[in-house]
Amino acid sequence: MGSKFGIGSLSIVMTLLLSLVPKLEAEFTTVEQAIKSDGSISFLVIGDWGRRGLYNQSQVALQMGKIGEKMDIDFVVSTGDNIYDNGMKSIDDPAFQLSFANIYTSPSLQKPWYLVLGNHDYRGDVEAQLSPALRSIDSRWICMRSFIVDAEIAELFFVDTTPFVDAYFLNPEGQNYDWRGVSPRESYLQTTLKDLETSLRESTAKWKIVVGHHAIKSASIHGNTKELESLLLPILEANNVDLYVNGHDHCLQHISTSQSPIQFLTSGGGSKAWRGYYNWKTPEDMKFFYDGQGFMSIKITRTEMGIVFYDVFGNILHKWDTSKVLYTDLDFSL
Ligand SMILES: [Zn+2]
Repeated sequence: MGSKFGIGSLSIVMTLLLSLVPKLEAEFTTVEQAIKSDGSISFLVIGDWGRRGLYNQSQVALQMGKIGEKMDIDFVVSTGDNIYDNGMKSIDDPAFQLSFANIYTSPSLQKPWYLVLGNHDYRGDVEAQLSPALRSIDSRWICMRSFIVDAEIAELFFVDTTPFVDAYFLNPEGQNYDWRGVSPRESYLQTTLKDLETSLRESTAKWKIVVGHHAIKSASIHGNTKELESLLLPILEANNVDLYVNGHDHCLQHISTSQSPIQFLTSGGGSKAWRGYYNWKTPEDMKFFYDGQGFMSIKITRTEMGIVFYDVFGNILHKWDTSKVLYTDLDFSL
């Protein structure tokens, strides 16, 4: 039987079909991170820190160096608010040296630093912190708006959360935010969410960690971020995310609820802390809360993950471990 369609018609049909196929490739930039020869990775997480060494920033940095050496860390994650009070004025701003390069000087911290932006970073020249030119001053600095770090057994998805928060647009309280690269806001947010959803869905990593500046859940002064609860959380829950890690509130905390499989972790104790505020209605969900300075470490193998929180003296405040045996890890050779 002959076809009713000629070659020309077929190619039009094919073109139409192809154009209807959803675009699958993720738009986020992916950075490849090597893992250790034993197949594990370990890293530190710090947030809300750049204050020229003040408010115990230097003491936290010193302890990070010691724990980093003990764990032989592979990299450092920053949950944002990298430079106070108002980000960087330009790529020549001495705050880069005074609050970063000259502070985190321990040998163990001379590893890649993966950083997201916080709301304070948006109050300066936002493009300065994003500029690859900073790497000629300090090659550790890898700061982008939203991006992925692919460490084989784990993928870290960094999300630019500041543009999600309505108050910065509707009631900026005298602050100037540098929204270059974000406007128009609606399409920026939609694109970010769509690209994150695609990246998470396509990820084959055993562990998925999402990092943003603002908390989805927090008992400290900023509380839950309602925009992230409604827009971001459903995407994370639908895509087997293990951890959501944030800063913004200047404390350390671990929240785990029966409504969500995700562990909510705040590491925002990089310098100024002790806000003296706590408001959480379900004590059974609050696994750990510390109102002072400190940081967190994460160690991951194919089947295990361990999280530790430390104070400004390097004392261990809280530990949490989990394991995951996946179908592909089972040995059926018997
Ligand atoms: Zn903040």
